[in-house]
Amino acid sequence: MDTIVVGNGIIALTVAFRLAKRAAATDHVTIVGPAARPGSATMAAAAMLNSFAELDAASLDSEIGFQHFELSHLASRRWPGFIKEILAVAGSLLPPGCAKCEGPCGGCFALGTYLINNAAADSLDDENFDAVVAALEKFDEPFERVSPRDIPNYQPEERQRATRAVYIPNEGWINPRLLVEVLEAALSRFPQVSFIEGEVDRFIKPGARIEAAQLTDGRRLGGDRFVLATGATVSGVLDRSELGIEVQRVFYGVGVSLEIRSPEFPHSKCIRTPNRGFVGGLYSVPYFTGPGEPTDHILIGATNFISPVPRPNGRVGSVESLMRAAMEQINSNFYRADLVRVNVGWRPTSQDTLPLVGKTSIDNLIIASGTKRDGLHLSPVLSEKVVAMLYDEPTDPEFRLFDPERKPHKLLTREAAIRKGVRHLMSAAYQHGFAPAKSRMKDQVAAMYRQDLERLHDQVGAIDWGIPPDMFDMYRYGHARG
Ligand SMILES: Cc1cc2nc3c(=O)[nH]c(=O)nc-3n(C[C@H](O)[C@H](O)[C@H](O)COP(=O)(O)OP(=O)(O)OC[C@H]3O[C@@H](n4cnc5c(N)ncnc54)[C@H](O)[C@@H]3O)c2cc1C
Repeated sequence: MDTIVVGNGIIALTVAFRLAKRAAATDHVTIVGPAARPGSATMAAAAMLNSFAELDAASLDSEIGFQHFELSHLASRRWPGFIKEILAVAGSLLPPGCAKCEGPCGGCFALGTYLINNAAADSLDDENFDAVVAALEKFDEPFERVSPRDIPNYQPEERQRATRAVYIPNEGWINPRLLVEVLEAALSRFPQVSFIEGEVDRFIKPGARIEAAQLTDGRRLGGDRFVLATGATVSGVLDRSELGIEVQRVFYGVGVSLEIRSPEFPHSKCIRTPNRGFVGGLYSVPYFTGPGEPTDHILIGATNFISPVPRPNGRVGSVESLMRAAMEQINSNFYRADLVRVNVGWRPTSQDTLPLVGKTSIDNLIIASGTKRDGLHLSPVLSEKVVAMLYDEPTDPEFRLFDPERKPHKLLTREAAIRKGVRHLMSAAYQHGFAPAKSRMKDQVAAMYRQDLERLHDQVGAIDWGIPPDMFDMYRYGHARG
């Protein structure tokens, strides 16, 4: 059986890894993608392996929200074993020093996240902090209430300090660049696996099944089955392929993260806020750069804006706001840290903002994208599901909720979407320095946002459903419909 995996981010590589482990001697697994990985979300990620810390007040209200959380919760349990599995296969091909690592030993993968509740944005943070704590209690997840003063390397400016914090010992992080390196080393161990440098332009489907993937340079790769896992670019590939299937559009969630070097003030744990203002909050994560290297790099993340087209560069404002937030809210000594790298990655963000993973009505095509801001964390579980589907094994019926050809889920009522939108717009405004006059300015601005969002809902005919707040501008400018 010849499987062509299109894409070379975390989803494609983990699918290929699980597939290669099951491959018979006559099987082939081909991974196609550009070595430079422009816009790869994977390479820009922190990458936090957070599940509870990602929740907000409404995350568990819908069936699909709950299923998404279940996948994420399962992924937290899978990671330690998954890392060991990859390292075991890579063996002597690991970067020097890695071979001694047997899994979670405080190197590229480690555990421990502090969630802080500060007053730098607005009360949306308090609501979401409470929601995380309520979920930790409900699901019996280990956590500890701690004094913010006891958080290692946490030295915010006085007026931005947190008053509440919890420590979640089972939520960690991994350096995605090292992970990709190790996964590629592991994959190269399998004689059935080959890597093709290039970009797929379209699929060729002369009849009912896909016959080949055609690259932009004209080469054609024939195969028995195809997995489309190119992150935010999947819609472009599908449009050009004219396959006759309807898959909701995937947008570019352009995100910036910063790698800094802070030798005098290094992190040993992840320190983050709850979700706020259209992003996953402010976070700062130890960034292990390699065995034997000083452990003084930190990843600061992240910003987000949704775009219908790829944007190769980050915005100056994104870099400015991350630097300022890290110095004010995490450690004012970062003022003297080195700026090592500015990452720009495209979070694959579907119109309904939920993953698109599963079989399609074309017998030999599976799509795996739409993971937005937690695809790295979900990858051990999503890859398991995709490989089960490739082998026609049963998956949980609930997983059909993520079917790539579904109509976009409409999770919010119009009123809930508008209320949530106003909350997030106000939160974003406070993060960007909003200081209302002491008259009724705050209420007036909130009322102005509400009127605008009501007009937007009228304009697109969203009378008995609500637009996901991430997608307001995509509906406003006609890039998303229905
Ligand atoms: C700033 C930022 C921070 C994040 N932080 C976290 C985090 O802390 N935790 C977490 O779990 N997730 C995080 N995410 C989200 C996570 O990175 C994504 O959900 C995940 O990486 C998506 O993986 P992917 O393989 O689908 O896409 P990508 O990583 O984007 O990979 C797609 C790959 O396909 C290649 N490609 C594109 N087009 C083609 C084509 N036509 N043919 C062949 N190849 C192609 C690209 O070059 C790319 O390498 C973050 C994202 C960003 C941007």
